[in-house]
Amino acid sequence: RAKEHGKSRFKVFNQKMHDQALRLMALETDLRRAVDLREFEVAYQPIVCLDTRRVCGFEALVRWRHPEHGVILPGDFISLAEDTGLIYAIDNFVLVAACAQVKLWQTTFGHLMGELLTLNINISGKHFGQPMLLSQVTRALDDSGLNPQALNIEITESALMDNPAVAEEVLKQLKSLGAKVCIDDFGTGYSSLSYLQRFPIDVVKVDRSFIDGVEGNLDSQAIVRTVFSLGESLGLKIVAEGVETPAQLAFLENEGCRYVQGFLFYRPLSATEVDELLAGGSIGS
Ligand code: C2E
Ligand code: MG
Ligand code: MG
Ligand code: MG
Repeated sequence: RAKEHGKSRFKVFNQKMHDQALRLMALETDLRRAVDLREFEVAYQPIVCLDTRRVCGFEALVRWRHPEHGVILPGDFISLAEDTGLIYAIDNFVLVAACAQVKLWQTTFGHLMGELLTLNINISGKHFGQPMLLSQVTRALDDSGLNPQALNIEITESALMDNPAVAEEVLKQLKSLGAKVCIDDFGTGYSSLSYLQRFPIDVVKVDRSFIDGVEGNLDSQAIVRTVFSLGESLGLKIVAEGVETPAQLAFLENEGCRYVQGFLFYRPLSATEVDELLAGGSIGS
């Protein structure tokens, strides 16, 4: 009986895997079509400067407006996009659209700003290190007229460390365009900190999981504290991401944090919502 039981469980498992495979194949077909038909939109999550409590930049976050399933978040399609190579087109779509959009906001609302409104773009680890990236970034900057100084390219630690030699070269070239480089999800990917010295990194985003922990977890507090003092000594700009509560904010301010991003301030917004926000004057630095 045990054997029978085991067998039927195996069957159920198999059926599940089969269904999952079918779903994945359907999703892949849909994703290819989505790239052709440009079914993507860009959401913009404000980054707030704590000195002024005003918006000083945005992170561009892709959304897929699926004709039947509605809005699909990146967590549900980025890894498939990476596996299928569709990520190159998706990242580039976001890059082109967001550079043009932020340039427009700078032009329209620039007189309200002390500093340049910045744009953060996520580039997949798979995309980073592909020769096409440099020409795509060059093109997006040229076509939009966006000041390269305003562009932050976000990559993860693993994107750097999977192939450090290539990464070093790509970073150098991105920097020579005038763009800045930001480490996303800092603290989750790699155990050595020496790469912060080795590579020309401008910005570090402390991962949400640590910010989440600062309210009670002493380890998280210690880690966040260490990142801020590291940032100070290495001349890095530190952004805290995923700030959700006043208590987290209080801790961060006490540690000298100057830039935050999170639901406590703003969720990712549509371009139209940002228009309204900027028109209302919540901008500047
Ligand atoms: P990420 O780059 O770390 O982006 C931050 C994610 O955290 C976003 O999720 C954002 O909505 C969410 N978030 C921001 N503040 C809070 C908060 O206070 N609480 C919580 N719980 N979440 C917060 P989203 O938009 O679903 O994106 C997920 C991930 O997908 C991103 O993480 C990034 O790794 C990836 N991604 C998004 N857009 C792109 C893209 O255009 N290209 C590539 N390659 N990856 C992208
Ligand atoms: Mg990011
Ligand atoms: Mg992140
Ligand atoms: Mg992430």
